[in-house]
Amino acid sequence: MRIGICPGSFDPVTNGHVDIFERSSCLVDKLIIATFENPVKKPLFTMAEREDLLQQAVQHIPNAEVTSFQGLLNEYAVERGVTVIIRGLRAVTDFEYEFQRALLMKHLEPDIETVFIMTKTDYSYLSSSGIRELACFGGEVDGLVPDAVARRLKEKFKDKYQV
Ligand code: ADP
Repeated sequence: MRIGICPGSFDPVTNGHVDIFERSSCLVDKLIIATFENPVKKPLFTMAEREDLLQQAVQHIPNAEVTSFQGLLNEYAVERGVTVIIRGLRAVTDFEYEFQRALLMKHLEPDIETVFIMTKTDYSYLSSSGIRELACFGGEVDGLVPDAVARRLKEKFKDKYQV
């Protein structure tokens, strides 16, 4: 059985992420979608909230499993029998960071491959940080994030959306 993992902060999950999940789910038997605490980033949503929103966003993908982990991705991947790490690529700016991460992973776990899926052009401008910024000023997020995420953002910034 081929097990893949899509790791990320998913703070929150966007339609760009969901597109990557849908397309990568066809390449593996089981797709683990895992959120984790990135020590460099200060999250808007807790890990439990992010996991819950991911769960609602991937209900239509039968071989997807949503989970979270702490610590090192390479150790978690080995523990779960993962052979493929799947990451999305939007722009040249993503490349440098992803390239370094993929090479580091190869050094740590030579049996695991990192695979990149190009964003759909419609979502190439979409990022979780852009969504957080938009929502904190009461901007329209419908169509950019799954419905459950849009509802949760509007609850979180309800004073901005009531105007
Ligand atoms: P991280 O903190 O690990 O970068 P993110 O939640 O920001 O986690 O992103 C997870 C993955 O999804 C990354 O590989 C990122 O490049 C990819 N990604 C984010 N937004 C998009 C998008 N709009 N289209 C395609 N891939 C995306």
